[in-house]
Amino acid sequence: MPPLSRISSLRTLQKKSFHSSAHLKALSALALSRAENISANWKGTNATGGATKNFIGGEFVESLSSEWIDVHDPSTQTLLTRVPQTTESEFNDAVDAATQAFKTWSKTSVVTRQRFVLELQHLLRQNADAIASSIVLEQGKTLADAHGDLLRGLQVVETAAGITSTLLGDKIEVSKDMDTEVRKVPLGVCASIAPFNFPAMIPLWTIPMAAVTGNTLILKPSERDPGAAMMIAELCQRAGLPPGVLNVVHGGVPTVNGICDHPAIKAISFVGGDRAGKHIYERGTQNGKRVQANLGAKNHAILMPDANKNLAINSIVGAAFGAAGQRCMAISVAVVVGDTSVWLPELVERAKALHVNGGFEQGADLGPLISPGAKDRVTSLIASAEQEGGEIILDGRNFKAPEAYRYGNFVGPTIIRGDTSMKCYQTEIFGPVLVVLQADTLDDAIEIINNNRYGNGAAIFTQSGATARKFETEVNVGQIGINVPIPVPLPMFSWSGNKGSFLGDIGFYGKGGINFYTQNKTTTSLWKAEDAVGNRASVNMPTHH
Ligand code: NAD
Repeated sequence: MPPLSRISSLRTLQKKSFHSSAHLKALSALALSRAENISANWKGTNATGGATKNFIGGEFVESLSSEWIDVHDPSTQTLLTRVPQTTESEFNDAVDAATQAFKTWSKTSVVTRQRFVLELQHLLRQNADAIASSIVLEQGKTLADAHGDLLRGLQVVETAAGITSTLLGDKIEVSKDMDTEVRKVPLGVCASIAPFNFPAMIPLWTIPMAAVTGNTLILKPSERDPGAAMMIAELCQRAGLPPGVLNVVHGGVPTVNGICDHPAIKAISFVGGDRAGKHIYERGTQNGKRVQANLGAKNHAILMPDANKNLAINSIVGAAFGAAGQRCMAISVAVVVGDTSVWLPELVERAKALHVNGGFEQGADLGPLISPGAKDRVTSLIASAEQEGGEIILDGRNFKAPEAYRYGNFVGPTIIRGDTSMKCYQTEIFGPVLVVLQADTLDDAIEIINNNRYGNGAAIFTQSGATARKFETEVNVGQIGINVPIPVPLPMFSWSGNKGSFLGDIGFYGKGGINFYTQNKTTTSLWKAEDAVGNRASVNMPTHH
């Protein structure tokens, strides 16, 4: 890593400011005051047009890059910040800082590392509103949902505090006076590459797990909304994490390829879409790294005739359209079994009743999509359903946003009756679109799910234990909900998406997370009690009897 004096001089050289008041006019008064607070109070991020910084060796440093990526508020297109394409030399500085820090961090006691996560959880709670505000500004989701984003990450931090129990090793006397002991030791420098849709939760899937197990980490947040990650990095520092244990770099493919290729990086955690995930998995594993990659999804909910109708409809509507459908565990397909199709008008009515609005607005249920490109993609997938003979029973393409948000990337809740051959079914839409399929029987519905290439999650709504049991046994996805629409396990368990939704062998957080970030080391030792006396060597092959 560069000496601190060089970092400070880089900072002064890079004083160029992007701030201009013209581009801020579109923000509401509430959004503007939150943006100004973020710019004034946080070192690594800016929400009023300034630069997002790298975090290298414990310093927030403005990049020397000549390539910058603009981040706009998805509900107004206001420029919030510019994110650097971190340069190769800055990236190498970050890896060097992590390599140096590993030498001491990996030797700190488990209680020291536990104390860090305990302090971090406290600071995250204290600063939840600021982090949630950054998420609303950059990502667009509603304030309540942004708090949920942080909370789900916070739960990983809280569970990581159990490291003094979860890292306990095994030991047994394998022969008289001979013990074998296994220790879980850290890997070294690890890397984490995050998607845009959970700007706080996904970085928090990896930061606490990597740190409590004694690793150091290079985090690359999504270049579309890195603000929450920068604030979390600052809180890690305030929580006592030594310089270099966590470093944050930015950018797109060049940074990702740097992570895949750098020989000092031992493991990569990736969460995002299929294309990037396959590339990272292949390139990372070819370079001898351990890789876990959570990918895209198409999650089905089966609606059985004996379901509690009210619970089922509310659950499906919430899980399909919450976060504007930009969740990897969103329900994007409802399979109506038998005559539950008669419930569709009610489902449409409840979807229609959702309020689509800017994320800070009172009563907003869902906000905009992340970018104009995402909006175009979603609306063209809806159009493809029309062309393929699908029936659009609720069309969100013509949603008219309130005047203040007329430039936002809004699409209203959309419901399409279709079949499994259609593009809108075959593709992960990642928008507020629910495809409804008809099945005659439970067997047919399970077959549809099992034939889908993805395997993140599936839910069933029924009041029959037998039906639920059959579903649970026969359905081939990793995370099953019974009367639960988004069955993401709490982090004492591990994420368990399967089929096309996951590449790798070891899941995120929980026991899986500990295994991912550690390798086993066994020691077999012999301290013969009888060696304390006697004077004759044994020449026989040791057989451990
Ligand atoms: P994305 O794949 O576009 O981006 C994810 C990360 O990969 C970003 O940091 C980005 O910079 C990088 N990246 C993008 N394209 C790349 C490329 N061609 N080569 C190398 N790196 C690249 O994903 P996104 O749009 O930010 O997030 C949405 C996707 O993430 C959806 O498919 C969603 O299902 C998935 N996701 C999955 C989970 C899960 O746990 N299974 C959770 C959240 C999101």
